[in-house]
Amino acid sequence: MTTFEELGIQNDLLKGIHELGFEKPMSIQIKAIPLLLKQQKDMIGLAQTGTGKTAAFGLPLIQSIDISNKNTQSVILAPTRELCLQIASDLNNYAKYVKGLNIVTVYGGADIERQISAIKKGAQIIVATPGRMDDLLNRRKKIDLSKVKTVVLDEADEMLSMGFKEELDAILERTPATKRTLLFSATMSAEVLALSKNYLHDPVEIAAGQRNTGAENVKHTCYTVHEKDRYFALKRIVDYNPDIYGIIFCRTREETKNIARKLMQDGYNADALHGDLSQAQRESVMHKFRVRNLKLLTATDVAARGLDVKELTHIINYRIPDDVTGYIHRSGRTGRAGHTGSSIVIINLKEKYKIRQIEAKLGKKFKMSDVPDGIEICEKQLFQFIDRLERIEIDHREINRFLPQIYEKLAWLNREDLIKHFVALQFNHFLDYYKNSEDIQRPTDKTTRTSKKSKKSQKAENKTSRTPVPAAEDGFTRFYINLGERDKLTPPELIGLVNKNTRQRNIDIGKIDIMRKFSFFEVEEQYTDKVLNGFDNANFKKRKVVVEISNAGTETTPSTPRNGNGKRSSRRPRKNMKSRRRL
Ligand code: ADP
Ligand code: MG
Repeated sequence: MTTFEELGIQNDLLKGIHELGFEKPMSIQIKAIPLLLKQQKDMIGLAQTGTGKTAAFGLPLIQSIDISNKNTQSVILAPTRELCLQIASDLNNYAKYVKGLNIVTVYGGADIERQISAIKKGAQIIVATPGRMDDLLNRRKKIDLSKVKTVVLDEADEMLSMGFKEELDAILERTPATKRTLLFSATMSAEVLALSKNYLHDPVEIAAGQRNTGAENVKHTCYTVHEKDRYFALKRIVDYNPDIYGIIFCRTREETKNIARKLMQDGYNADALHGDLSQAQRESVMHKFRVRNLKLLTATDVAARGLDVKELTHIINYRIPDDVTGYIHRSGRTGRAGHTGSSIVIINLKEKYKIRQIEAKLGKKFKMSDVPDGIEICEKQLFQFIDRLERIEIDHREINRFLPQIYEKLAWLNREDLIKHFVALQFNHFLDYYKNSEDIQRPTDKTTRTSKKSKKSQKAENKTSRTPVPAAEDGFTRFYINLGERDKLTPPELIGLVNKNTRQRNIDIGKIDIMRKFSFFEVEEQYTDKVLNGFDNANFKKRKVVVEISNAGTETTPSTPRNGNGKRSSRRPRKNMKSRRRL
């Protein structure tokens, strides 16, 4: 067994990491630390997250700092603020017993003057995001890197995929030619390779873990759908997996927000993790996910870094990542610690070639599946419910005192009917939602060439499952409400309802379309959240009111199985009131 001491780590650091509970070095640390302590060579370290890279470069780095002088001797560049803070906090923990070491973090979105004054006091190590470092270095000229001995590029692949190439160039240009450069990355993309060619001289390459291999106990499943069906397919996949606890990977932060919003509106325990959140918001979302208050988290790759949750049942690639290793990285988040996991990909026909690339690298085949149909989903949900019913623990003492009255009340139902009632109670919303739903077609190469037949069947599908909804007027949000003529809803009454539930008197209401079972109304965009929040838990003539944003042409499935009974039909509007009113 190797120890940190044997690797050459000095006593005060040993004391620090001992307190952190580091007993023996991890594989990448065993490889990197002696090399970094003994040689001056550049280094490429390839390893997935969680393999202990921070200590691998951090311990030798701290040990190489000349505490007696205050020059900036080392720069660590990392893609996000969270990572910078994490790295700095790790280094400070290792160096708890190293006196006179000053580590400063600089990153965007925080008070730059405070960062400048922290640097002025002397920072031997600066941990920075490339954007802010470039700003302080090249525009404001507040940092001097001429005495730098070591540059660390942590998560280089992420920095490049976030578009920091220019900043990295501008920063590295300002460091002395004599410095040593360490590059760490989970993946070795063409861009990372190019970067290392440019800036590293004859580097040693080390790797840890089984890089580029997917976990053994992960099942890979692929659903091919028409682009327009992507979200509906996601919903069905989620419904088909009642115990799902997983991350849904999206491509952009906009998409991350959008999908989470839709899922929430559709009644799922979901939220989004993306770069626009404040640190407090981010932590709150991560906490809710960890304690499983949230079952689904939408995220970009970058936002999901630092979220280490074990026992995820599913990884869903709402968008397939651009590079194969990205996929392997994502899917490696499930199937851990002896559990089996499932990695799901939703693609359109054009993305099919990427599956082949991944298969080649994984050495494993995807199961190509059709999106589950309504019957399959209902069946799965029903049996999961029945299973739970069978296994439920009964607290006889507590429940017994209520039973006589309940038995009496239900006496008219025989066993079979009783079961039917239970099932219906639990499942009517699901059954309703999926009753008339069309299957989501798996596109074939033929259908993309738009044969007549496919166009026709596509049309039929559109007709039953998607009613075209007119777009809202500019500056307005169009809402769906599950009340209509049948509920004797009139335009003044609808205005009254909006008025009452939002507690606003000055909202500009646009078009109102009252249909038989439901209606649409438009409200100035700025009040969108007010309306959504206002109608949360609202009632009308003892009925639960459901209000949702209705996006033109896209979100026109029947109202959700989970939170409402409003259904939509393809009827034309009965009344079309164009005039604008002020409440
Ligand atoms: P990476 O940068 O490769 O994603 P980190 O450096 O963040 O990984 O380390 C992952 C986790 O492992 C951290 O919680 C860290 O504290 C812990 N860790 C690192 N080295 C050791 C060690 N030798 N023994 C125990 N835990 C360690
Ligand atoms: Mg790291």
